[in-house]
Amino acid sequence: MTARPIDLDAARRLLAFCDASPSPYHACATAAALLTEAGFTRLAEDAPWPGEPGRWFVVRGGTLIAWVTGSGHQPHDGFRIVGAHTDSPNLRIKPQPDLVRAGARQLGVEVYGGALLASWLDRDLGLSGRVAVRRNGSGAMVRLLRVDRAVCTIPQLAIHLDREVNTAGLKVDPQTHLTPIWGVEPPGGAPSEDGGGLVAFVAEELGVDPDDVLGWDLMLHDLTPGSLVGRDHELIGSSRLDNLASCWAAVEALTEVAPTASEGQIPVICLFDHEEVGSTSDRGAASSMLPTVLERSVLARGGDREAFHRSLARSACLSADMAHATHPNHADRHDPQHRIALNGGPVVKVNANVRYATDAPGVALVALAAEQAKVPLQRFAMRSDLPCGSTIGPITAARLGITTVDVGMPQLAMHAAREHAGSHDPAHYRALLAAFLSPG
Ligand code: ZN
Repeated sequence: MTARPIDLDAARRLLAFCDASPSPYHACATAAALLTEAGFTRLAEDAPWPGEPGRWFVVRGGTLIAWVTGSGHQPHDGFRIVGAHTDSPNLRIKPQPDLVRAGARQLGVEVYGGALLASWLDRDLGLSGRVAVRRNGSGAMVRLLRVDRAVCTIPQLAIHLDREVNTAGLKVDPQTHLTPIWGVEPPGGAPSEDGGGLVAFVAEELGVDPDDVLGWDLMLHDLTPGSLVGRDHELIGSSRLDNLASCWAAVEALTEVAPTASEGQIPVICLFDHEEVGSTSDRGAASSMLPTVLERSVLARGGDREAFHRSLARSACLSADMAHATHPNHADRHDPQHRIALNGGPVVKVNANVRYATDAPGVALVALAAEQAKVPLQRFAMRSDLPCGSTIGPITAARLGITTVDVGMPQLAMHAAREHAGSHDPAHYRALLAAFLSPG
């Protein structure tokens, strides 16, 4: 097999995707912009859907589903699905966040998902997400908000006040130690009534009246942009590689799938919100959203419920989520028979207890796609004495009853505020997903 040439442009495009997507809502907006540029049309869930062939997508909050149908497609044709997730562990703003402690104005936050808490300390943090505001006339509307200046920081305690921290380990209490500072009370002055006023700040950023700010899903993000790392640029560093790397690869893969190349198989990508907190929501992988969208696409093309169930029997899903590369400083944490190399190509993840959905037929589909894409494939299993993480793979497999395989791009420091991966792998990953979506 001839190796694919190294393509750092793919890595640069991935970094741009991550920088443009500080929250799941922004990730959907970034993906939607790329899809629209590639000729996709957004469909409204409360409107009838067209039956003609085309390139379509829907967005519900932080979840996006897109698909391509060609003129040769039958209603009972199968789906080739690539699933990923738009959310990453981070710190989210509480409903009544304003507080003052020791003269500092602070914002109360809650930890979202399994974040590596220490990695959020001593960083310049911006604010992003969405805000529900009163609509002129009646009702409410949702606005995206993104503040890309250092409005918050969470300073560590000086080592002089915690002498054992390097040997005993850093303990971070999420209630007391993780509260960001975003202002200072005037010296000697009386503490301000609202402690700095998140609502007033948000209203000003959006250009609305504070009384019109009705609710929010806001979170903090590290402001450091993505970068090529290493003497010869063999690595990339960025926030949210888990799992925006898979979202980016899925979007680019779908935009390059030609409808004529996918006769008999309808390529679909679904970028789910809420994977990091268990997927149970109106738009997570455990919701009715994906089955509903698939069924509606069958009905719109003139099929019935029988055709929908026939199509599921011909479908397969690749759950695309990041994989653990072997950490050189902690190699004993990895199974010695399953070393995973940065820049070694995408990783098929297997777990006997089905924390990953992968089984033999699924591995076969990925192995064939890797051959088609001319990319190397690595195989991962956890150490038998360590518990295994999970993905949307088993949930999607259970929800749809279709062959599902867990695949990821290798990375280090998963769930840290900044993560690292190989710079050659994004091109491999994108090529593999394109081959899976459009088997030759
Ligand atoms: Zn993930």
